[in-house]
Amino acid sequence: MSSHLHTYIGPFLKVKLPEENKPITKTNKLSICVNAECKNYKKDRNAKFCSSCGCLTEENITTDTTHSIHVISAYELLEEFGDLNLLWSLGDTEDKFEWMLPNSQSIHSLRIDNSVDEMEMKIPDENIAILNFNRIYANFIKFLTDKKIEFEIHFSVINYWN
Ligand SMILES: [Zn+2]
Repeated sequence: MSSHLHTYIGPFLKVKLPEENKPITKTNKLSICVNAECKNYKKDRNAKFCSSCGCLTEENITTDTTHSIHVISAYELLEEFGDLNLLWSLGDTEDKFEWMLPNSQSIHSLRIDNSVDEMEMKIPDENIAILNFNRIYANFIKFLTDKKIEFEIHFSVINYWN
């Protein structure tokens, strides 16, 4: 597999990936000894009969709930939004900020995908590019705002390997 250096000049989103507190419920099914005289009374015997006193064990079901913090990925955000191809994530996170780049070409951004010896390209106007980005991604920006997800719109030169 060969990697190529790509350059993108234009607007992009830095999204602070939200965290979700997910409860995890674990069910424990025990077969306990019910003979009060037995040394294994109320202990899990993991069998139909207690191997110590021979009594019929009783099923005892308990649940434990723990919480785990799940950081929602850029992919999951796009999936929830309903358009996986809208933007793509660079996969780089800085302090839980994911960089999401446009997936479609725009006259207000530049993509240099191959090493070209000599070429002259006009750098897009930052203000127009950001205005245009806001217009194209208005629905996704509203989606982030409604979900109270922190984000920033940046304009810069990004080099990445792909
Ligand atoms: Zn027993």
